[in-house]
Amino acid sequence: MMPFTLETARSEADALRAAAQGARFIAGGTTLVDLMREHVEQPVRLVDINALPLSQIGIDADVLAIGALARMADVAAHPLVTRLHPLIAESIVEGATPQLRNMASIGGNLLQRVRCPYFRMLDAACNKRDPGSGCAANEGRHGGHAILGRSEHCCAAHPSDLAVALVALDATVRVRGAHGEREFPVEALYRLPGDTPHLEHTLEPGEMIVEIRVPPLPWSTTGRYLKVRDRESYEFALVSAAAALQVRDGVIAGARLACGGVGTRPWRMRAAETWLRGHPANRSSFEAAAAICIADASPLPGNRFKVELLRRTVIRTLELAGERS
Ligand code: SF4
Repeated sequence: MMPFTLETARSEADALRAAAQGARFIAGGTTLVDLMREHVEQPVRLVDINALPLSQIGIDADVLAIGALARMADVAAHPLVTRLHPLIAESIVEGATPQLRNMASIGGNLLQRVRCPYFRMLDAACNKRDPGSGCAANEGRHGGHAILGRSEHCCAAHPSDLAVALVALDATVRVRGAHGEREFPVEALYRLPGDTPHLEHTLEPGEMIVEIRVPPLPWSTTGRYLKVRDRESYEFALVSAAAALQVRDGVIAGARLACGGVGTRPWRMRAAETWLRGHPANRSSFEAAAAICIADASPLPGNRFKVELLRRTVIRTLELAGERS
């Protein structure tokens, strides 16, 4: 491991000042420390932000407000989360082992790095780790990679389960930095890889996520998160789906749908949501919506199976949400 300095921020001003001078934030460290050990990331200065008062979970003006330093385990078990937005709790439980859920912060979860094996192999070409070096996954192993939003420069799938649930629920992030505070949709936190896959999110240098805000949605109680993977635990999604349905007299009045494991960022399925509204809540409608979801898929030879897996996962998740509605 390369030498680095570690300091503890006692206030948000301390943390932002250190970040403005080039320090990297560290909270749970469940991604960053691994990457430092593997020499993928080599920050020379870290600022520990765990002492900042950003762990609250509560209701603020009808919005579920989750402090960025709340631990995943605490969020998943919180009665407000399980009662109002069960698919957030399900996505967290599905997203990591108990050890990681106890350690990892909710803000850090949103900023975790990709699981592409070549990203962690220092002798492999990887535009995300080493811009301009190429993409070993295109010709190599890419079974777990994205079929939506990829470019010739990077096809790594976004790894966060929680982000998929938050995108489905129109959640926002509140961030603070040297130029003050701003709030924007979680969906807008993520960039497509294009020809700059090393730029993954839209935070300004030194900006810190301080809160996640989930607006009220009465029928969010129907929400389900379904994750399909190679093994039952400690594995990232091949395909996942977050869905909630509002059904009146057997007809869909509202739908939310986002998918994970298939996109280079959490993938909201707005066209399918629009189609579902006004149609009966039955298998035939769910199949039609799933067909819309796969229409723009652009797989590589090694992950063509994901197209059919996405279709089936969407149908099953909508069925599960329909059973709760
Ligand atoms: Fe790197 Fe992305 Fe290619 Fe993986 S898919 S090798 S992360 S550029």
